[in-house]
Amino acid sequence: MIKIAVFPGSFSPFTKGHKAIIKRALPLFDKIIIAVGINYKKHQHYSIEKRIKWINDIYFNNPKIFIKSYKGLTVDFCKKENAKYILRGLRDFNDFKFEKNIAQMNKSLNSEIETIFLITSPETSHISSTIVRDIIKNGGDAKQFLPKEINI
Ligand code: ADP
Repeated sequence: MIKIAVFPGSFSPFTKGHKAIIKRALPLFDKIIIAVGINYKKHQHYSIEKRIKWINDIYFNNPKIFIKSYKGLTVDFCKKENAKYILRGLRDFNDFKFEKNIAQMNKSLNSEIETIFLITSPETSHISSTIVRDIIKNGGDAKQFLPKEINI
């Protein structure tokens, strides 16, 4: 059976931190679906179309990577896509606290799906989409935190 992972997130915007996680996860899975969440609770600063296009501009040539949007529960999306793994990145203790609860709740909702965590590489552990958005909003240059394909 092929190993399919879903990498869910807001990706608002997709950063070098996300890219580093994908790069390291690629040898572990046969297929990775980057799942851009349509999350009603979180105010999204960039449209779903924009967020998907940016990611597509990076990976359109990679046969193992697929980009999709989704609504609702991540475990339901995984089931629909036949994915047995949820991929997440961990930067620090705050991420851990948040991610631990989500992973355990997801496990209760669907025991067949495992969440796999990768600890960030030191070069990208300080990068967050929130701070990138703040820099851009205040007229700064956030290029160094973004993959070269993304021009905001
Ligand atoms: P969410 O709104 O679901 O947290 P994000 O787009 O902020 O979505 O993040 C998606 C995933 O990428 C999360 O697992 C998050 O911890 C991880 N992530 C975000 N930034 C980095 C980074 N710099 N290095 C590694 N993982 C990261």
